Amino acid sequence: MLEVPTSIPKDFLGINSNGVQIIYRASEGSEDEDEALASSTLLLYHKSMRRKAKNFILDLLYPKFCFNCGREGSYLCEDCKSTLEILQSHQKYIFKNLKDLYFALPYQKSLIKNLIQQFKYQPFIKELARNLSSLIITHFQLLDNKPNFFDYTLIPIPLEKKKLKWRGFNQAEEIGKELSKFLKISLLNNVLAKIKETPPQVELSDEERKENIKGAFAVRNEELIKNKKILLVDDVYTTGSTMEECARVLKRPTEGGYPGAKEIIGIVVARG
Ligand SMILES: [Zn+2]
Repeated sequence: MLEVPTSIPKDFLGINSNGVQIIYRASEGSEDEDEALASSTLLLYHKSMRRKAKNFILDLLYPKFCFNCGREGSYLCEDCKSTLEILQSHQKYIFKNLKDLYFALPYQKSLIKNLIQQFKYQPFIKELARNLSSLIITHFQLLDNKPNFFDYTLIPIPLEKKKLKWRGFNQAEEIGKELSKFLKISLLNNVLAKIKETPPQVELSDEERKENIKGAFAVRNEELIKNKKILLVDDVYTTGSTMEECARVLKRPTEGGYPGAKEIIGIVVARG
């Protein structure tokens, strides 16, 4: 049975509507203000407790099993996670439009491949985003020179509408939401749109991939990114043609007369 407290703690952690973890703080002030704040704070607290209760029930109904060893409790247990060689250093990568690229590990081991494939093909498990983004977060924590992304905004590589409808979620956006909570920066999912269906890139050469992806993305709400520093999020980076094309359209001055984004850095779980 979940207990709902009758009094609220002065500060508590919650998640706002953008999925960003924030501290709700009761302020010092007049009694009326305190009362108004207390009731809204209590409401938010109840919401956060309700979410916890819902997750608890879902865990009971649909227990999670490690994709690698089958142990109950998580899609990737700590023992199997520890077999993944998460990079402890960062090497600067400079591309045409991408200023740098961060990735947790190479896309070589079958475990990471299976996890990422599982994310993309049926049955779709949205929650895997938490396990996959934890690999990126662990990579950040292992670095001696930790990157500071406080003035960056996260933008996920979008899916075309049909694919989004079929899958029910965009895996890059789900990873982005987890990174947004960890880095305490916002995520914009209404800027980059995929406007053209593209055939799978797998069997194409580098040149063909570039041609294939050209004109596939458009920028909406361009005023939101003018002169901004952007972290582009995806699950895997292979030849980089998708990410480069997205970075190109984000940096380009727009028809509305806005300058494009100032700087773009890619973040992915694995690099092929
Ligand atoms: Zn395991």
